[in-house]
Amino acid sequence: MAKNLGEPGYRAKQLLDAVYRQRVESIEQISTLSQPLRLKLAGTGVSLGLPRIEQRFVSQDGTVRYLIAFADGQSVETVWMPEGDGGEAGDGSEAGELAERFSGILEESAQPTPSKRRPVQKQGQNQGRSTICISSQVGCAVDCQFCLTALLGVKRNLTAGEIVGQVCAVLKDQKVSPPEDRINLVFMGMGEPFLNYENFIKAARLLVEEVGIAERRMTVSTAGIVPRIYDFGREKIRPKLAISLNASNDTLRTQLMPLNKKWNLEMLMSAAREYPLRTREWITFEYVLLGGVNDEPENAKEVVDLLQGLRCKVNLIALNPGPGIEFTTPELERVTAFQMTLRAAAIPAFVRRPRGRDIYAACGQLKRTVEIATAPVP
Ligand code: SAH
Repeated sequence: MAKNLGEPGYRAKQLLDAVYRQRVESIEQISTLSQPLRLKLAGTGVSLGLPRIEQRFVSQDGTVRYLIAFADGQSVETVWMPEGDGGEAGDGSEAGELAERFSGILEESAQPTPSKRRPVQKQGQNQGRSTICISSQVGCAVDCQFCLTALLGVKRNLTAGEIVGQVCAVLKDQKVSPPEDRINLVFMGMGEPFLNYENFIKAARLLVEEVGIAERRMTVSTAGIVPRIYDFGREKIRPKLAISLNASNDTLRTQLMPLNKKWNLEMLMSAAREYPLRTREWITFEYVLLGGVNDEPENAKEVVDLLQGLRCKVNLIALNPGPGIEFTTPELERVTAFQMTLRAAAIPAFVRRPRGRDIYAACGQLKRTVEIATAPVP
């Protein structure tokens, strides 16, 4: 754009800086450019700004669910978790402590454990564990039977700018700024990132290069779009990979996640085994536990067989309920028993503490706020 305007290359840098770091909301606010240049820029018909935060829901646990609207009026949900764990590690529970130690050993041995050794940051309130969960599509086409987002169907893909825009809007609202404030990012909101692959990758690059969030602080989760897992492994800049497993055999998985008809467990597990892990990296498998459906001891043993020998860990998520979801949340004992079976087989398994369940902000609960904001939480 700078080139088209006959401007030197450093103008491009000034523009990127204004958009992604200063998070200006209009051309007028770009103070590094002269007034004539701002007018010239406006004359090209370019407009810039952040997506609009339409609503905020604040949970008892501090989680904030944002309804964020784009220029065409479509909206998605984005979640701020002040003590999030990057979809990865500690949540203050015993499992979380173990996860932190585990990540300390395997992933970030050079980094101090955030909650214990890091001094309180000056900028913003961030203690180094905050996580933003972002959406990649308006709705979702994958149709997982236990997920509220599936009920929307897919409306459209988000552009790379809209994906990054969610992050910038939330950073601005929370008054935090990476890299000074440590922010984790998970592509685990509405939509299937690997069905909007190009824009997702472009967004990931912008987030690393322009917004300043480190790759190792980002995780993308896929329901299992197998060809894109191979593509993803070849990307130079790539977040960590999480795969939503959710079932221990094909019959069950096809029932819960219809996409398993197209890409079954054998194909999925081959992709996972061939995935080029970097140093101190592992694949995370998510497993949503549905009472009496996929949480039997037999299922846990099947998961062990599937994952044996893979450098991976498992995040167990007890179902977050919602209107229109026919499954039940298993008792804690069953969740723990499942976890222990995995651990007995030397597979690191962690139970994810649900965040923001009271405001429908937890995994699988993102829908359009307006539609369910008044629905009672079961
Ligand atoms: N489409 C991607 C990104 C979304 S991640 C994917 O499927 O991986 C959202 C995570 O929440 C997934 O692991 C999904 O399996 C899980 N999930 C969906 N519905 C849920 C629910 N009702 N309760 C708990 N977890 C759920």
